[in-house]
Amino acid sequence: MLKSDHKFDTLQVHAGSRPDPSTGARQVPIYQNTAYVFKSILHAEALFDLKELGHIYSRLSNPTVSVLQERLAALEGGIGAICSSSGHSAQILALFPLMHPGDNLIASTRLYGGTVQQFSNTIKKFGWQAKFVDVDNPSQIHNLADSKTKAIFCESISNPGGHVTDLPRLANIAKDLSIPLIVDNTAATPYLCNPFKYGADLIVHSTTKYISGNGTSLGGAVIDSGNFNWSQHDKFPSLSDPEPGYHGLKFHDTFGPYAFIIYSIAVSLRDLGMTMAPQNAFHTLLGLETLSLRMKKHVTNAKKVAQWLDSHPDVGEVTYAGLKTSKYAQLVKKIYPRGAGALFTTALNGGYDACLKLVNKVNLFSHVANLGDTRSLIIHPASTVHRQLTEEQQIEAGLAPNVVRLSIGIEDPTDLIKDLKQALE
Ligand SMILES: *Cc1c(COP(=O)(O)O)cnc(C)c1O
Repeated sequence: MLKSDHKFDTLQVHAGSRPDPSTGARQVPIYQNTAYVFKSILHAEALFDLKELGHIYSRLSNPTVSVLQERLAALEGGIGAICSSSGHSAQILALFPLMHPGDNLIASTRLYGGTVQQFSNTIKKFGWQAKFVDVDNPSQIHNLADSKTKAIFCESISNPGGHVTDLPRLANIAKDLSIPLIVDNTAATPYLCNPFKYGADLIVHSTTKYISGNGTSLGGAVIDSGNFNWSQHDKFPSLSDPEPGYHGLKFHDTFGPYAFIIYSIAVSLRDLGMTMAPQNAFHTLLGLETLSLRMKKHVTNAKKVAQWLDSHPDVGEVTYAGLKTSKYAQLVKKIYPRGAGALFTTALNGGYDACLKLVNKVNLFSHVANLGDTRSLIIHPASTVHRQLTEEQQIEAGLAPNVVRLSIGIEDPTDLIKDLKQALE
C-alpha cells in the first residue's frame, strides 16, 4: 500500500494506481469509455447534485485520467489535479475559475511563445487582459496590479531561455495582493522544482513535454496546493458565490480546499470540454514512471553541451542557468538544487543566416517545435514558433533573430557535441 511519505521515485511509479479490482491487471487499464452506469435513481441524483463524487461521463472524469491526476498531485505535493487536452488548455482551465470579463492577470515576459500569444490576443475575447512584467524586476508588479488583477503567472524554468524564476519573491508579492501565484512547471518538472514549497498556489503543466517524455501525447494539467482562501476579499465569485448552474451551490463553502478542483470538473470541463483522452493519459503515465531517471540524464547532458558551446568561438551567449558563470547560479542552488533543466538558447555570432545553417546541418538533433523529448531538439524561434511575435516581443522573450533554442535529450552527450561541432563548422 502506498504511504503519503513515500519518496519521489516511488510516487512516480505507484501514486494513484492499484491492481485492477476485477482482473488483477497491474498496469493501469485504459478505460476507453464515455459513460458510467448509475447504481440507482438516487445515486444519479446525488452525482448530478455533487452530493456524491463519482464518474458520470468522460468529459468530466475518467478512471484512467484520474490515476494520472492523482499521481501528478502526489508528485507536486498538491491536494488534487485536473488533466486537460493540452498545456494550452490547462492554462485556460487554471484561469477560468478566477477570471471574469474586465479582469486581468500579471504575466511574466519570459513565457513559452504560444502562451505570450494566448495571453496577448486570444484571452481578450473572454474580456481578460494580461499585463506583462520582467520577473527579474518584480517590484513593477505593484504598479501594474489593480482591483481587477486576479493572478500572477510565471514559468519556473522558462521556455525558451532556461532562465530560472525567483518563486519565493513572486509568492510574497502575490500574497501582498491577495491573489494566487500560478507557476507553469513544464520545463522544470516536479523532479527539479516544487513550486508549492516556495509559495505557489496553482501549478500548470504541458504534460506533452518531459512528463510524458516520448513526444507521443498532447496533454496538460492544473494542480492545486489547496492553500488559497478563495473567499477572502470577494475577489473570486465563481468559487465563493452561489453558482446558478448548480442551484446556487457555493463551491468554497461546500468543498473547502477542494473548491477549485471540483469547480474545474463540474463547471470548467463540463462546459468547455478540453478533456484529456484516456489513451493519452495512459501514454503519459508510462512516461511519468521514469521521470526522475530521465531528468537526471537530461540535466547532466545539458550541462556538458552548454559548457562546450559556451567555449566555442562562433557562439555568443549561452543562456543555460546551470553554467557556473550564469547570473542565476545562486538561485539555481537555492530553488533548483537538482539542476537547471535541459532547455536553453544560444546566440550565434553569424546571426540569422548562421542559425538557419546550423539547423539545416545537424543530423542527430531534430528540427521540431517541441521540447522535453528523450531526443535532442533544435529550433530557430524567430523564423518559426516566435514568428507571430513582434521583433520587440522576440527580444523581450530572449529570442532575437540570432538565437537558436536547444532541448537536450538523453542520448550520449559526446554524440550530441560531435553533431553540433560538424554543423557549426
Ligand atoms: C509547450 C508548452 C506549453 C503549451 O503546451 P501544449 O501541450 O503544447 O499545449 C505551455 N507552457 C510551456 C512552458 C510549454 O513548453
